[in-house]
Amino acid sequence: MSELVPLVARTAAIASSGALPLVVFDLDSTLFSTGERHRRILAEFAARHGDPGLQTLVDGLSPRDFRWSVLGPLQRAGWDDPALHKAVMKAWSKAFFSDRMADVDLLVRGAHGFVHAVADAGALCVYLTGRDAPGMGAGTLRLLHRAGLPLLDGHGLAMLKASTSAADAAHKQDAAARLRALGTVVATFENEPGHANDFLAAFPEGTHVLVGDVHRPGAPDPDPALVCVEDFRGPWEA
Ligand SMILES: [Mg+2]
Repeated sequence: MSELVPLVARTAAIASSGALPLVVFDLDSTLFSTGERHRRILAEFAARHGDPGLQTLVDGLSPRDFRWSVLGPLQRAGWDDPALHKAVMKAWSKAFFSDRMADVDLLVRGAHGFVHAVADAGALCVYLTGRDAPGMGAGTLRLLHRAGLPLLDGHGLAMLKASTSAADAAHKQDAAARLRALGTVVATFENEPGHANDFLAAFPEGTHVLVGDVHRPGAPDPDPALVCVEDFRGPWEA
């Protein structure tokens, strides 16, 4: 049985006690895979670059071929030219954090069903992301809406950074303090061990879940008390 199943009943129990259950979700590499965003950015680069070999390589890629870095598929195929990597990264950093690309990501397996299961049990679903509101706010709301996640029905709340320069960890810790005043944190979901460890320290009574294995290089070790899952698969899948 999925380790996530008991969280639905726990959400319902907290709701029936009169408290507001909160379930907190990171977006990038947690509810959504960023592989399609990487793929589109690399496809745009290849179309401009004009090298038929690079174009052929990129044409054959799927979102699943990408993990943390957009350079991964190039490196695996032997495209190791530092000047090419620098040019790709310049294009990537401009596009990856843009509103234009903010709504192309694809839901992780089971995510739609699980988020709805906890919402139906009475949770407020909190989308707590390192995306910044000025640069990616509109696109992120389009993403959540197109993915069919609770947002405009009173069961969803999006918390984005106030600026690109704000640190993700500080943003999430500030948000945690506000959430504490709002309700009871049932669970948090993260792909970054550092943020998951912080949530465990902030809400030791909650369940803190590390999703997948895509995270920044050099990330701290996950606390052994974290629950680790590959994705959100479970009985809520259609
Ligand atoms: Mg993330």
